[in-house]
Amino acid sequence: MKIRKACLAGLAGMAAAALLLTACQNQSAPSASPTGSAPSAQEQVVTGTATGMGEVTVELTVADGKILSATVDTSNETEGYGRDLGEQLAQQLMDAQSADIDGVSGCTVTSSAVRAAAQQALAQAGMSGQTAQATAGVYVGTARGAKSDIKMAVEFDGEKILNVWNVENGDTAVFSQIAADTVAQEIVENQSLSVDVVSGATLTSRAAMLAAANALEQAGVSTADWMVAQEVEKTTRPTEEYDVVVVGAGASGLTAALSAKTDSQLGLTDSGLRVLVVERNGFPGGDMGYSGGYIGTPSGNPLSQATGAEMSPEEVTEAMLAANPNAADFADPVLSLNIWQRGPATITGLMNRGFHLTVEDARVVALGDGMMTAAFTQDPVTGYRCGDDWYDAMTGAPYLGKTLGAAAEDAGVEIRLHTEATGLVIENNVCTGITVEDRESTYQINAKKVILATGYGGFDQESVETFYPEMSNVLAANNPGNHSDAQKWIKELGGEVIYYPDANYIVPVYNAILRDNYEVGWLFQKGHTMWVNSDGVRFFDESQILDNSLTDTGALLQTLDDGYAYMIFDDANTDCAQYAQELIEQGVAWSASTVEELAEKAGLPADALADTVAAYNEACASGTDAQFGTPADFMMPITGSTLYAARIAPGSTASMPLSVYVDQDMTITLTKGGQRIENLLAAGGVCGNLTPVTGFGAHVYEALSSGTYAGECARLAILGQ
Ligand SMILES: Cc1cc2nc3c(=O)[nH]c(=O)nc-3n(C[C@H](O)[C@H](O)[C@H](O)COP(=O)(O)OP(=O)(O)OC[C@H]3O[C@@H](n4cnc5c(N)ncnc54)[C@H](O)[C@@H]3O)c2cc1C
Repeated sequence: MKIRKACLAGLAGMAAAALLLTACQNQSAPSASPTGSAPSAQEQVVTGTATGMGEVTVELTVADGKILSATVDTSNETEGYGRDLGEQLAQQLMDAQSADIDGVSGCTVTSSAVRAAAQQALAQAGMSGQTAQATAGVYVGTARGAKSDIKMAVEFDGEKILNVWNVENGDTAVFSQIAADTVAQEIVENQSLSVDVVSGATLTSRAAMLAAANALEQAGVSTADWMVAQEVEKTTRPTEEYDVVVVGAGASGLTAALSAKTDSQLGLTDSGLRVLVVERNGFPGGDMGYSGGYIGTPSGNPLSQATGAEMSPEEVTEAMLAANPNAADFADPVLSLNIWQRGPATITGLMNRGFHLTVEDARVVALGDGMMTAAFTQDPVTGYRCGDDWYDAMTGAPYLGKTLGAAAEDAGVEIRLHTEATGLVIENNVCTGITVEDRESTYQINAKKVILATGYGGFDQESVETFYPEMSNVLAANNPGNHSDAQKWIKELGGEVIYYPDANYIVPVYNAILRDNYEVGWLFQKGHTMWVNSDGVRFFDESQILDNSLTDTGALLQTLDDGYAYMIFDDANTDCAQYAQELIEQGVAWSASTVEELAEKAGLPADALADTVAAYNEACASGTDAQFGTPADFMMPITGSTLYAARIAPGSTASMPLSVYVDQDMTITLTKGGQRIENLLAAGGVCGNLTPVTGFGAHVYEALSSGTYAGECARLAILGQ
C-alpha cells in the first residue's frame, strides 16, 4: 500500500474540510509587526488556519523561540460569540508565549480553533514544543461540543490512526452521537483530522475533530501533519468466498445475517454457513440508529405479552393493506403475511440475544383500527427514551444499532465496516457475488446467496433526479450518505423500481437534521410569527400552523420553490426570542437591529422584506389582515430593537420509500412476478413497499422481520432444506 500525503491547500475544490486547513510559512513578505517595523532577518511570520464557527486565522511573528506579535482574525465567527475576541485571544497568545491559552469561556469553539491555528503556526517555526517521538498507544482527547465536553479516543500505531471512537458525549441530540461516530469513521478513513462536519450537528462534529487532535498531541504528534488529506492508492485483493454475503448492516441486514447463521428463531443453532455483512458506515444499525426508536412488537413476544395488546400477523397484514389503498398495485399480501409471521420469533429471538428491547419500554399504540404494542426504546447509558421528547430527537435508537450488531457478531456473523459494495456480479440472470471497496483495496466477494439490505432510497442527488425530482427541495434527515444502491443496481439491470409517495413523512426542520431541542422544535409549530418565502413576501395565514400537523406544515413548505420559509419576529415575542440564540449558533437564524440588516444576513431581498414587515405591522395595528385574514390575536408586530429571522425547510425524517420487487422466497425479480435474478435476495426497505409499510414503528419491525425471512430463505436454499 502506498500512502501519499497531499497538501490540502493545493487541492482546490475538495469537499469542505472542517478543521485545520493550511499552515503556511511566510518569510519573504511578512505582515507588519505591531510597532510597524519590518521583521528582522531572524524573525519569521507564520500563520495557521482552523475552522471554529467560521474560519479563524492566527498570524504570529516569532524569533528566537519567542512570540513577538500575534494577530488573530475571528471575523468569520458568530456575532456575539467569537467574532469580537480576536484581540483578547491574541493577547492570551502573547502572555502564554505558546498556543496553550485558556480561551474565553462561553466561546469554546472559537477558543479551540485559535489554539489549533496557533499550534499549527508555531509548528511551522519549529516551536510546537512537541519534541517527543510519536508514541503508539490509545489516547483520549477532549474538546467542548454544543453542550458538553466531547471525548474521543484515538488508537495510534506511531504512523497511522488505527481507530477513533467517542468515549463521552453529553450533547443531547441523538445526532450528536452519530456525528461523533461519523467524524471518527472519517478520520480513520481519510487518515486526516480535517474531515467534513455532519450536517445538523456542526458543533459536536467540530468538537470531535478537535478532541481527536488533542488525543494525537498526547501521542507526541504534531497535529499540523494530520491536517492534510491523505490519498491512498488502492490495491486489488484476492477474491473471497462466503456462503451468504449481506450488503448493509441496518436492521434488516443484520437480522438477515443472523437468521442465515442460526435458525428461524434466531436461536443458538449454528447453521455452519459462513456469513459476511459489508457496511459502508463505521457503525452498525443503519437508519434504525437515527430513527425515533419506536419499534412495533405486535404479538408473541415479551412486550406484547406484558401489555396484553396483541395483533396477530394476519391482523397486521390486514391493517397495513387497509391503510395503504394506493399501494394495491404493488402490495403483496402473501409475502406480507410471510414477513409479519416472522415477527414474533424475531423480536423474542433478538431480545434473547441482547438486542436492547425491554418490557419496561412497552406501550400500547393504535395501528389501523387495532391496538398493538410498541417499544419506546430507552438508551440505558444516556437515559433518553423515545417519545419522552421532541419526535425522534432523543431516543435509545443508536443503542439499538450497537446491540443488534453485537448480537450478530456473537452468533458468528462477520461484519466488515467501512466497506462499500460497489456492484453486483451477475451473469445470465444469476448473481454470484459483489464487488467491494474499502479505504485501501478493491476486491470481489463470491457468495452462494447475496442479500441486498441497503435500505430505502436516500437523498443523494442522483436518486432525487432519477426517482423523485419533486423532492428536490426536501432536506434529508436520515443516515448521512445513505442512498439507494440496490434500487439503482436493479434499475440498471432493466428492473422496475416502485416509488410510493404516501409513505413519505415530510415535516418542518431547521436544517437537515437539526431537531435536537424539544422547545426549539415547537417554535415553528406554535410560535406567533410572520412567515415569508425566499422572495421576502408572506404566503399564507400563519395562524394555520396552530392547527396544522407536522406533516401539514411540511407539505406547505414543499409548495415553495426552494422549500425555505423564514419566521420573522422580534425580541418582544419572548416565546420565540428565547430560543433564537440557539438557532443563530447553528447558522439557521439571524438577528439584526433593522429590517434591512436582517434581510442582508438572511439572504432575503431587503426592499421586499421591509414592505412585508410594514404591511404586517399595519395589519397588527388595524386588527385586520386584508391579505390572508390572519386573526388579530395571532399577529404580533415586528417593531422591537432586535429583529430575528429563523429559516425552516421541509425535511424527510425517513428515507425515501423506494423498493424493488421480490418473489415469495425474497429473490429479486425485475418486474412484478417477472424475471428472477437467481441467488440475489432483498430485505427491509429495499422491498419494503411490497408489505406495504406505513405507520407507527412498522418500518423497523418490518426490516427486522423481513431480514429474518430473507436469511431463512437463503439458509434453507443453501442447505437444501
Ligand atoms: C429520522 C428517522 C426516523 C425514523 N423513525 C422510525 C420509527 O420511529 N419507527 C420505525 O419503525 N421506523 C422509523 N424509521 C424508519 C426505519 O428506521 C427504517 O425504515 C429502517 O431502519 C430501515 O432498515 P433497513 O435495514 O431496511 O435499511 P437501513 O437502516 O437504511 O440500512 C441500510 C444499510 O445499508 C448500508 N449501505 C447502503 N448501501 C451500501 C453499500 N453499497 N455498501 C455497503 N453498505 C451499504 C447503509 O449504510 C445502511 O447502514 C425512521 C427513519 C429515519 C431516517
